[in-house]
Amino acid sequence: MKTSFLVVYQEFGQWIKQRLGCKCQKISINAGFTCPNRDGRLGTDGCTFCNNQTFNPEYCVTHKSVSQQLAEGKEFFRHKYPDMRFLAYFQAYTSTYAPVEHCIKLYEEALAVEDVVGIVISTRPDCMPEELLDYLEKLNRRTFVLVEYGVESANDQTLKTIHRGHTFQTSANAIRRTAQRGIAVGAHIILGLPGEDTDELLRQADLIARLPLTTLKLHQLQIIKGTQMERQFQEHPWHVFSVEEYVDLVSAYISRLPRTFVIDRFVSSSPKSLLVAPQWGLKNYEFANLIRNRLNTKI
Ligand code: SF4
Repeated sequence: MKTSFLVVYQEFGQWIKQRLGCKCQKISINAGFTCPNRDGRLGTDGCTFCNNQTFNPEYCVTHKSVSQQLAEGKEFFRHKYPDMRFLAYFQAYTSTYAPVEHCIKLYEEALAVEDVVGIVISTRPDCMPEELLDYLEKLNRRTFVLVEYGVESANDQTLKTIHRGHTFQTSANAIRRTAQRGIAVGAHIILGLPGEDTDELLRQADLIARLPLTTLKLHQLQIIKGTQMERQFQEHPWHVFSVEEYVDLVSAYISRLPRTFVIDRFVSSSPKSLLVAPQWGLKNYEFANLIRNRLNTKI
């Protein structure tokens, strides 16, 4: 018989509504950043799982300015929700990996767009200079700021295997340095990387639980066409979680976290045309419902 959980957690949408007093939609921006794991500073092939096409919506291409991408994103969502406000989401590649003045110029351009009420910056934990934190600390006093770090795993051997180019200690340090400035900090984790079974991931949950995080994004490992990981998977396939196994894992994982953590998402869905495995065929909201039922939460 399965263990049943009664876990209360905060969802990102509710949390933002409480913090900002309005419904907000993130609009993804590709501001033309690159990444040290691709430009040669750490490597040229990138993390083994990475294919940036999976998180670039069509409106978000680099020949368009930040404000143009936001205008098009707003138009897209406004159509459905006229009262929506927006968060500029610097999502593609490493969105702090440029001279500090250039980063600031791009963030300020985004914040000057009407109805943009805050900023979310996604980056690597080894790409956050103190000077940029100085700016973000001040920025955080005038608008909503969330810095999201790609942690991916708490196991240094796994981080090495996936060519991440940093350790878990680097992630923990960046999270602490950012939180100490009073800035909301998020972590992005991939569940199911090669060599990480349920026991390892629950050990990871206990380490993540001790970090001063505000938000947490969990997603299942997705093996994407054209990546190094696809080749490795075709050569030596490993076990990928079934829907049921993943629901059980996420439920147990969340039950180990402080209730103050805001869960941004549990699952991610890359375009079908790019996805090798797992082929679950579920929409994000269907999956979220499965998790909620399993957690037996009252939301
Ligand atoms: S996942 Fe991020 S850090 Fe890794 S190669 Fe892709 S953009 Fe670079």
